[in-house]
Amino acid sequence: MKANELEKIGELEAGSADDPIEGAVRRMIAEIGEDPGREGIQKTPARVAKSMRFLTSGYAQDIDKVMNGALYSVAYDEMVIVKDIEIFSMCEHHLLPFFGRCHVAYVPNGKVIGLSKIPRIVDVFARRLQVQERLTVEIAQTIMDKIKPQGVGVIVEARHLCMIMRGVEKQNSTAVTSHMLGVFRECEGTRSEFLRLVKERT
Ligand code: ZN
Repeated sequence: MKANELEKIGELEAGSADDPIEGAVRRMIAEIGEDPGREGIQKTPARVAKSMRFLTSGYAQDIDKVMNGALYSVAYDEMVIVKDIEIFSMCEHHLLPFFGRCHVAYVPNGKVIGLSKIPRIVDVFARRLQVQERLTVEIAQTIMDKIKPQGVGVIVEARHLCMIMRGVEKQNSTAVTSHMLGVFRECEGTRSEFLRLVKERT
């Protein structure tokens, strides 16, 4: 049998000839000097493909569907803050995770969004290849566009495995990014109230 036929059979035995991500992962495993046929990692390409599809599922999500019309008219015009939202994202430079917490606040302008929708909006952008700065801006801009509040503040605090594992930075360093729009940008009082509420431990 020819070498390429043998290779085909090998792929079929691993149960995955049709999935391009699996094929790419299998080739990568071989390239780094491992045996993709070794018992312990035979199913690894399939697992990696599945987890990669989940971790980047934000590309296929539509913000309006995620929000599902959960906008409510209210007379409330004080700050709404959802803090310590867990985020797990993937750095677009190294395909390694970065993870931490996100704090989102806005001052309504006649409308509020269902509180549970905010972490879901965060996930839509976190589950993509990202840089932390863009993730922060995209969350803030989306809330600004969809809720049309008086202002939005977003802070992301995260640790990047591409820095930690490769020894580029100290083990405990955290990157902090923020994006302020509307009253959060214009009004020192609003911004410092947000920062105070974020720091306050509950
Ligand atoms: Zn990186």
